[in-house]
Amino acid sequence: MLQPGSESLRKIAVVGRGTAGSLAAASVTRLHPDADHELHHIYDSRIPVIGVGEGSWPSLVEEVRQLTGLPHETVQQRLKGTRKYGVAFEGWGRRGRDFTHYFTPQQVSYAYHLSADLLADMLHESSRARHIDAKVLDIARVDGGARVEFEGRAPERYDLVFDARGFPRELDADEHVDISFIPTNTAVIRRCPAIVEEAVGPVLQHTYTRAVARPHGWIFVIPLAVHTSYGYIFNRDVTGLDEVESDFDAFLQSDGVSEFEQRAVLRFPNFVHRRIYDGAVARIGNAAAFMEPLEATAIVSAQIQIGMVLKTRLGRSVEHLDRDAPAVNRFLVKNVLRYGLFVGWHYSRGSRYDSPFWRFARDRTWPRYRSAADPAAVDCNALGEFDEMIRLLHQPVIDQGDWHRMCAVPLTSYAQMSQGLGC
Ligand SMILES: Cc1cc2nc3c(=O)[nH]c(=O)nc-3n(C[C@H](O)[C@H](O)[C@H](O)COP(=O)(O)OP(=O)(O)OC[C@H]3O[C@@H](n4cnc5c(N)ncnc54)[C@H](O)[C@@H]3O)c2cc1C
Repeated sequence: MLQPGSESLRKIAVVGRGTAGSLAAASVTRLHPDADHELHHIYDSRIPVIGVGEGSWPSLVEEVRQLTGLPHETVQQRLKGTRKYGVAFEGWGRRGRDFTHYFTPQQVSYAYHLSADLLADMLHESSRARHIDAKVLDIARVDGGARVEFEGRAPERYDLVFDARGFPRELDADEHVDISFIPTNTAVIRRCPAIVEEAVGPVLQHTYTRAVARPHGWIFVIPLAVHTSYGYIFNRDVTGLDEVESDFDAFLQSDGVSEFEQRAVLRFPNFVHRRIYDGAVARIGNAAAFMEPLEATAIVSAQIQIGMVLKTRLGRSVEHLDRDAPAVNRFLVKNVLRYGLFVGWHYSRGSRYDSPFWRFARDRTWPRYRSAADPAAVDCNALGEFDEMIRLLHQPVIDQGDWHRMCAVPLTSYAQMSQGLGC
């Protein structure tokens, strides 16, 4: 296929070796039509990757197959993965009933529960890059490209830089949209023995991420072939760590889990960078945006960011760049904001607990979504598209022409959540 942009994309850098950076390096290797392009994969081995990120969306299944050239079964086994058919919600909403948010088509479409480290390893094998272990001090746009400054090395100029350095150190209102209408900011991660049935080949059993409402937040349960990951997601400004640990212990006991390994306590921001892409620097993964993992929206967002940037840069000649970059940026900001609205909405009907956390989430935090996503403040109409999905759900009959509408996720996802939560 003719790739008119490839001439202006000779030297590319990916900074960061977590899930986002690893996906970007493998994507450049696969999509760049000229084998003689130069790709530098830069990371500081002293700065650890975040390492969690074990739920995904169905688009990852085909994407990893394409990037690695390996059959699905091999990919799944190498990821120590299981097939995720959706998210099983326990105790959410006002109906007092458990329910499942299935991928569409239900019981057909699946994603992976995967080991994030193994995914990165597999993607590295599929990347053709020069590896540079160095700390990056700055990435700045310069005429026709971007300049990367290193600690202890001479700076380099690139045609395009993917910045996958993870969370920003602090949020700044000029640079970041604050989406703290999502009410959580901390996770306690524990690892427990596997609960899926052992298999000789890939595990074929249908599995679900469990999202269990608890008094101080909610717990995810992600079944992998080798272990099960548990994470308690809460707000450290509402609940102390001791109370959360003690409720976590009680939950594991009631779940029949007698042993666990404490892995980490992670603080996270909820934000969207206003400038994800400027034509020369593309922020991807946790450097671009983050929200809590209730619907596993981080890896899929990174996939979209990398795909949009590479496809527009390669597919369009460089004279369109100044016009394309703001349009791509607006699309990417809108995409993550729409995920944010979908995830925040999950809290809008509370849970089986009338606790300080759930009152805070339902009555104080979620109602701020309209001002946070006000189109005048965020330069895109994610809010209008979200409102339109809610309007469709309230129609007595949804026209067939609207069945395939999406606002980050399909209308079917909104319908399932609306039913389940009792909206
Ligand atoms: C509790 C929790 C649960 C999650 N669950 C899910 C889930 O189920 N599904 C999902 O999709 N996502 C999930 N995520 C999100 C997950 O973090 C991301 O999907 C994924 O790991 C992307 O991380 P990243 O690659 O952007 O950054 P990181 O993993 O933080 O990697 C950053 C990289 O940048 C490098 N680096 C940093 N600074 C520099 C520097 N100055 N110079 C050079 N190199 C540098 C580091 O060495 C590292 O290689 C979860 C997150 C949390 C907190």
